[in-house]
Amino acid sequence: MSKKLHGIGASNGIAIAKVFKLEEPKYEISNNTVSDSASEIKSLETAMKKANADIEKLQEIALEKLGAEKAAIFEAHSQILQDPAMIDEAKKMINNDKNNAAYAIHTVAQKFITIFAGMEDPYFKERAADIKDVTDRLIKYILNVPVLDLATINEEVIIVAEDLTPSQTAQLDPKFAKGFSCDMGGRTSHAAIMARSLEIPAVLGLKDVTKQAKHNEVMMINGTTGEVILAPSADEIKTWTAERTKFFQLQQELLAFKDKPTVSKDGYQKFVLEGNIGAPKDVQGVLDNGGQGIGLFRSEFLYMDNDHFPTEDEQYKAYKGVLEGMQNRPVIIRTLDIGGDKKLSYFKFPEEMNPFLGYRAIRLCLDKTDVFRTQLRALLRASVHGKLGIMFPMISTIDEFKAAKEITLEEKANLIKDGHQVADNIEIGMMMEIPSAAMLADQFAKYADFFSIGTNDLIQYTMAADRMSQFVAYLYQPYNPSILRLIKTIIDGAHKEGKWVGMCGEMAGEEQAIPLLMGMKLDYFSMSATSILNARQVISKLEVPAMEQLVAKALTCQTAEEVLALVQKTTKSALNV
Ligand code: PEP
Ligand code: MG
Repeated sequence: MSKKLHGIGASNGIAIAKVFKLEEPKYEISNNTVSDSASEIKSLETAMKKANADIEKLQEIALEKLGAEKAAIFEAHSQILQDPAMIDEAKKMINNDKNNAAYAIHTVAQKFITIFAGMEDPYFKERAADIKDVTDRLIKYILNVPVLDLATINEEVIIVAEDLTPSQTAQLDPKFAKGFSCDMGGRTSHAAIMARSLEIPAVLGLKDVTKQAKHNEVMMINGTTGEVILAPSADEIKTWTAERTKFFQLQQELLAFKDKPTVSKDGYQKFVLEGNIGAPKDVQGVLDNGGQGIGLFRSEFLYMDNDHFPTEDEQYKAYKGVLEGMQNRPVIIRTLDIGGDKKLSYFKFPEEMNPFLGYRAIRLCLDKTDVFRTQLRALLRASVHGKLGIMFPMISTIDEFKAAKEITLEEKANLIKDGHQVADNIEIGMMMEIPSAAMLADQFAKYADFFSIGTNDLIQYTMAADRMSQFVAYLYQPYNPSILRLIKTIIDGAHKEGKWVGMCGEMAGEEQAIPLLMGMKLDYFSMSATSILNARQVISKLEVPAMEQLVAKALTCQTAEEVLALVQKTTKSALNV
């Protein structure tokens, strides 16, 4: 019997494949002694061979996907595995004391881990984690516990997990990872954002899919509607396969909009459609989907997929690559937006009760100015390779914006003094994602060159509803009239000072939001690359004056449902929905 679940459609498309359950298997290491030491030694050696093969494979993949520096970690793993000091000691314990192989490796590893972890030098401290990683793998092989490596998946699967960290998502190869479904998360969690940039269907917020799904059993997910079927019947597979074909056909039809200008039915040509990216490699997806620029490069991924704060030169290369790739189209790079759910393995955040309301993003950068200045210098140096806008995340007060801008201008002057070239047309703007800033938009507009509305956070902070929590998902309401009023306040405040406004939150690409945003005369719409062509199609079918009337009515509504009903009624015939 198949089983149906319902979650939040987080990345469009349909996937049908076997379940790959990403959960750390639980196992126990007993200290039972053995009578046959020879067979224990053999099982240790077999485990070593398997672990070695894995590590070689991981090294190859890392080299191809992440570069030589990251791949070097696996070189270190391979050395640990060959280290006679550790392996010989374990073998002695097996031969002399009749310990079992898993226990022997575990005991020796613990000894080395304690020594390394206690060292002052951060390089040796990190080796403790490497020893744990390698010996855990060995122990799992000895105990016949499944060893899961996302990067080594080599058949078509749907990943099932409690949650996926951004760096786990980045390891997924869309050739094999056909989709993913998680207990946690929603449309704006970072796993969702990554899924859309990898163009993988995803259903999140399923609450207990990890309990319900069985490893290796077939499952189907619809990332558009949020439906999931576990162990589907032959008939269900047939119906969904046909749906999937239809989805691909629609995608093909949208390609007709790739090289067309963005223009509304009544000829308004000022809307610009751009892509959001998390890494330089995402540029191609934006171009392939007819993006006219990049409205948000989330630079924090450079920091998160790393084991140290990226240097000025490392960052310069990444920013230069994006600017050159976009061939003089506008590119907005957001300065480090870290904290909340976005952590760094090499930096300890203070313990806080509410990290989403705490020490993060621009607050951290204005405190750790060395980190901030390094990034700004890299950005400013890269500015000569294209058309750069710099924006600051999580601005709450005018003083924060002024301070961030002042540091930027100081670094610009320093670079010029040192003989570097810096473009003179860089725009300096800010995210509008905190209600205190939104309410004062007309005042902020005197200082910022542009605003980019971050609805993902603006909604969470206005509604006081955690964007990651499935328990308060009903309060996460983009169409609540309070949110629409704030968006209108931001756009009008900027336009009053002759400044432009973009939106880079997920709402910018939503089919029901576009009519409202057209009516408010938003200038730039920045979204997942895969939403751009549909947005262009929607705009081509609607007329701006009618959307202005729609907005006037929507602003007087009391509930999100009323707004959505109004949008549907007004656009139904034009959009054929
Ligand atoms: C936002 O908050 O809307 C946004 C675009 O930023 P992020 O999703 O990275 O917080
Ligand atoms: Mg944000």
